[in-house]
Amino acid sequence: MGLAEGIRKHGFRKWYERELLQSHAHMLLLLFCAIGLLGSFEVFSRKAPLVDQLSIVASILACVAVGFWAMRRYLFLLAHAEHVANQAVCAQCKAYGRLDVLNVDVGRQSVGVRCQRCGHAWPIEDEAGAGAGR
Ligand SMILES: [Zn+2]
Repeated sequence: MGLAEGIRKHGFRKWYERELLQSHAHMLLLLFCAIGLLGSFEVFSRKAPLVDQLSIVASILACVAVGFWAMRRYLFLLAHAEHVANQAVCAQCKAYGRLDVLNVDVGRQSVGVRCQRCGHAWPIEDEAGAGAGR
């Protein structure tokens, strides 16, 4: 879910919480891939039939591919959530995360927001393309 859509639907704090949960779910998947990789190395044997060796090599390749994707996704989601959270403080009243979405500027990759407490408006830079294409 994109930034603007997420804030509109759940509010900023829930959006941020969901991004962190999703990010850490990918870290958990990375951990499972590491366990799968170690298990595959453990059962691999040159004395085993060729079919077994090939299936273990396929398992190793799958663990590496999924683990690499999960690590990239984990780091991206974490960095994106932190990048947005660092901009979610109102410059006027210092309220954190109390935002309403005003508009989405896809060209500048930013989301215009307004403080719920004092009405101050500012853009939040969204490096993920204002929620498009994620
Ligand atoms: Zn404010």
